Amino acid sequence: MSITPRIVISIAEVPEWEDEAYLKRAFRLEVIHQVCQCTEGCLASTCACGTLHLNEDIVWIEREYLDGNRFIPIVMDFERKAQSIICYRLNDILVEKKSPCGCGSLFLALEMKRVELAREG
Ligand SMILES: [Zn+2]
Repeated sequence: MSITPRIVISIAEVPEWEDEAYLKRAFRLEVIHQVCQCTEGCLASTCACGTLHLNEDIVWIEREYLDGNRFIPIVMDFERKAQSIICYRLNDILVEKKSPCGCGSLFLALEMKRVELAREG
């Protein structure tokens, strides 16, 4: 038996590139969509082009830049009713995409890399 989903969405962590490549091959898809949902909020999701964008309509994310395009996100979620997330510095490094996304979204586009801060040394 084989299945042919129209869309596959990875939730929570960004998948390893090997896993993403496997899923693309297995389901004959060009894009594995992603929703970066964690305790701190629903931080980012992919658009129709497959680019990961910050969900700047529901969370405010300050950027503590490490260089020209890598930054540590500091999250503020003003919509929560419990477990406030205010100026919460994540243990991740996000990489800002320098070329605009074809979808036309004004929300910040990210490279599909998410590096644990601890691994940076
Ligand atoms: Zn886009």
